[in-house]
Amino acid sequence: MKIFLLAGLLSASFALGAEPKQTWKPKDMNRPRPKVVDPGAPKPGEMRPPPPNAIVLFDGKDLSKWVRRPGPKDADKSPEPKWKVENGYMEIVPKGGTIASKEKFGDCEIHIEWATPVEVSGKGQGRGNSGVFLPGHQEVQVLDSYENDTYPDGQAGAIYAMYPPLVNACRKPGEWQSYHITLRQPRFDAQGKMTVSASVTVVHNGILIQDNVELRGEATEGPLILQDHKNPVRYRNIWIRTLPAR
Ligand code: MG
Repeated sequence: MKIFLLAGLLSASFALGAEPKQTWKPKDMNRPRPKVVDPGAPKPGEMRPPPPNAIVLFDGKDLSKWVRRPGPKDADKSPEPKWKVENGYMEIVPKGGTIASKEKFGDCEIHIEWATPVEVSGKGQGRGNSGVFLPGHQEVQVLDSYENDTYPDGQAGAIYAMYPPLVNACRKPGEWQSYHITLRQPRFDAQGKMTVSASVTVVHNGILIQDNVELRGEATEGPLILQDHKNPVRYRNIWIRTLPAR
């Protein structure tokens, strides 16, 4: 009985839709670093090909499912993506601009593989920085976090400026890595009041790093967005499955 009561209280506090509580200030360098764990080489299933019902956003051939998102200060407003496509991957052309999927997604499962440059340059946030912006919500950080210190809520696998990953499961620069993400959008009552916040679970290289954490924002859908942070990060094998409501 006590257990049920506690579970009820926990789910009630999660469902209120208030701003998630933060003990640490965003980007705090004093925040404890997540433990480093070695994910080893990719395991069967970790870099999985799209299942039959997946929407394939990038199959290694072209960027036809994507549009460029010019920044407000960008003189070039062209919607054509400027990233390079070769050898089955896309590579950021620095200052080429962030790109967004043409299609929007609500509740979904996202698979994406990425690699930071073999040739290491820069440090902290300047080393292998990109990012996966969840449909309608925040960024799951992409960064070369292999022996590269930064504020924990800005390292690879962090929900940027909010939650560090549970562990640092980064592979070496140049090695392919995977994110497998489950996103749940917020829910609203008949009056339009948010009753359940958006939430996300992230698995990095087969290891759980974000466990159903609460997100900000009231959007219920959006494109998948990949960030140009002026580092030549690569992506491949990007697919999404839309999920039925719970
Ligand atoms: Mg980033």
